[in-house]
Amino acid sequence: MIPISPHRHERREERPDLPSSHVSEAVAMSGRCGNIHLPSGRTCTLTERHDGSCEFVDPHDAEDASR
Ligand SMILES: [Zn+2]
Repeated sequence: MIPISPHRHERREERPDLPSSHVSEAVAMSGRCGNIHLPSGRTCTLTERHDGSCEFVDPHDAEDASR
């Protein structure tokens, strides 16, 4: 039996099923990138795994784009 440490994931606020820690769940679930630019709080609404760098928009615009 392999011992499993309960403290393996120390940062509990991170979703274990989301490898990136700063992604807008609502935007990501709509099939978009969803990366969050933390300094500005903006969100990338380009397609999932898009080429090039992220294009961040206001969270309000990101919500509109995710619909
Ligand atoms: Zn992006």
